[in-house]
Amino acid sequence: MNNRKGSSVSTTRKGAACVKKVQVTDRFKKMMLEAHRAQKIVLAMRANDLSLWTKKEQDEFRKIFGFDGNEIVDDVYSSPSITKGMEKKKAKDLMKDGIRRLQLLCNSLSIDNFNNLTDCGNYYAKVSETQTIALDISKYSTTLKIDIGQKFVNAPLYGIDSQACTLCHELSHFVRYVGEVDAGGMSTDDITGNKKPREIAIKMRDKKDPQLFLNSYNIEMYFEKSPS
Ligand SMILES: [Zn+2]
Repeated sequence: MNNRKGSSVSTTRKGAACVKKVQVTDRFKKMMLEAHRAQKIVLAMRANDLSLWTKKEQDEFRKIFGFDGNEIVDDVYSSPSITKGMEKKKAKDLMKDGIRRLQLLCNSLSIDNFNNLTDCGNYYAKVSETQTIALDISKYSTTLKIDIGQKFVNAPLYGIDSQACTLCHELSHFVRYVGEVDAGGMSTDDITGNKKPREIAIKMRDKKDPQLFLNSYNIEMYFEKSPS
């Protein structure tokens, strides 16, 4: 099974003919409203888990990420003075603050932010991650664009390779920009190689790679949760 989401770094589109087909149909609108709502639910559930932080939530965190919430991992950001700043922080704090930013992004989005490429895009979804650089939060709703591809249409709402976790994966790609406020996404990349992205993500978890929280495929695993 090919789990790949569209690469965030690729600027290659599926050709001009594809772009001409872009249209917001009622069917697309309905699908995106439901997916967007599911994403909000999943983000709220995880924000709540990190607040509760009992043994149950701590064990689940360790199972998904390989790291204990108190262990120190790498985070990156951009700012007016630095293109790629690195900092160390506790894994739990990284996710808690990452979710705060993802919720800010998610709550700014509406149907207008989603490009309908479901006729031809052979991927789940795709973004150009630099869109959040030097972008004021008030401009998110009118500026940010997320391409929705064909594979998104048949994805389940929740769970593995779901619409909800795919949207979280995509928003995590947006550059975390520390300017007037600390906003944007989580500056993640698609870490891929000879193996399937998920296998690479699992390997990073098992060997406790400190850069794990910069891989979108590891981040999305936290958002495969379903409402009970
Ligand atoms: Zn990606």
